Amino acid sequence: MPLHLVDFDNNDSTFDEYAQAASVKPIPKYKMGDEPIEHSVVKDLILDELLLDGNAKQNLATFCQTDVDPEIHAIMDKCIDKNMIDKDEYPQTAEIENRCVHILADLWNSPESRTTIGCSTTGSSEAAMLGGLALKWNWRKKREKDGKPTDKPNIITGPVQICWHKFARYFDVEIREIPMEHDRLLMTPEEVIKRIDENTIGVVPTFGVTFTLEYEDVKGISDALDKYEKETGLDIPIHVDAASGGFIAPFIQPKIKWDFRLPRVKSINASGHKFGLSPLGVGWVVWREKSDLPEELIFNVNYLGGNMPTFALNFSRPGGQIVAQYYNLIRHGREGYKKIQQACLDHGIFIAEEVEKLGLFDLLYDGKSALPGAAWMLKKDIDPGFNLYDLSDRMRMRGWQIASYSLPANCQDMVIQRVLIRHGFSHDMAQLMIDDLKRCIDYFIQHPVVNNSTKKDSEGFHHS
Ligand SMILES: *Cc1c(COP(=O)(O)O)cnc(C)c1O
Repeated sequence: MPLHLVDFDNNDSTFDEYAQAASVKPIPKYKMGDEPIEHSVVKDLILDELLLDGNAKQNLATFCQTDVDPEIHAIMDKCIDKNMIDKDEYPQTAEIENRCVHILADLWNSPESRTTIGCSTTGSSEAAMLGGLALKWNWRKKREKDGKPTDKPNIITGPVQICWHKFARYFDVEIREIPMEHDRLLMTPEEVIKRIDENTIGVVPTFGVTFTLEYEDVKGISDALDKYEKETGLDIPIHVDAASGGFIAPFIQPKIKWDFRLPRVKSINASGHKFGLSPLGVGWVVWREKSDLPEELIFNVNYLGGNMPTFALNFSRPGGQIVAQYYNLIRHGREGYKKIQQACLDHGIFIAEEVEKLGLFDLLYDGKSALPGAAWMLKKDIDPGFNLYDLSDRMRMRGWQIASYSLPANCQDMVIQRVLIRHGFSHDMAQLMIDDLKRCIDYFIQHPVVNNSTKKDSEGFHHS
């Protein structure tokens, strides 16, 4: 504690945030303090502390939106007091949510986009829970009608995002996750068919796989399930986890059939806060037709004199993200989204090409066919003096956050590095990133890392 007295008089013209008691003492961390602290001082102290977080624009590890228009800031500010669940108090926010559902149903080619059902969520995780629950309920109803046991539901996925593991555990469903193999990193129709039985509530292809950014072949899987139904009579629905791809493919890969154009696709989830371009806290789930969502899961709230169906895990939730989603959809239009996503795709392709030119890496994803970004591995049988974790660490010194991780089963021996490119990135930034990557590699050539993990990883590569 300094011995001098601190002047607490806020009206004093000498008032300065950094010359206050709170600024020269530790601030309360794990227990509330007894006395209040001047608001402007607390704000500065907290914002200063947050400077230690990474810089979101240089975060090439996340799928989530980190760049929003000033207009979105204004919308979020105006909406900060809107609770989306209070549909009687904020009926127009409810109307805007509803419009987004129908716009997305149309974007994903629902045959009944004007009348079908869907809702906003906090993100794709909640949306996946709702999609999974609908599959479980529909399966159970059918089984009960046939007088068959309903105690062993299973769901079939490829290498999925953790939310499907959560769904399986929280809602008591066995997950049959098709493991990766060295020559097959995605789900294939054959691998799906091998795992199906009468207790399969649905198949979940991922449209934009977390690990590799590639799309699973929804059409191929749907065709295989059609054939399977002809042979066995079992009609297995598909839910597509299009967390990222749901806002990419409709604009820049419109020929890929992955959505409600395939009658077997009964529901789709996507993250508004990923390539939907909205701020954090919004996802979407839409059913093909109203009848695909079992009524028992819908709670009807008779506010507004009408029936307002709600289906959600949360109750209170901020309304601003939903309004911002609507802003994005109508502000950019199809052409705007197309330009934005294509620009991101192009930057990813550029990065992939430049990385390949360095001669040390094998591309795992060249950025061309699916999500905007790229992924690569160190070439086998080389010892460049660093591993990918070392490279990520060193890139962090210039602020770049680039994910390095090992793949899931059965490819745990493969360590890959991945970048995601999102709105707010430019060719210039891509070039700066590549220049830094080269600088880091040069550094390691002159100062090779000798550590256990390098050794372990390079041994791992020889295994594969
Ligand atoms: C991000 C992601 C999720 C989870 O989405 P949140 O919006 O973060 O809850 C689920 N599935 C896939 C494929 C994802 O990429």
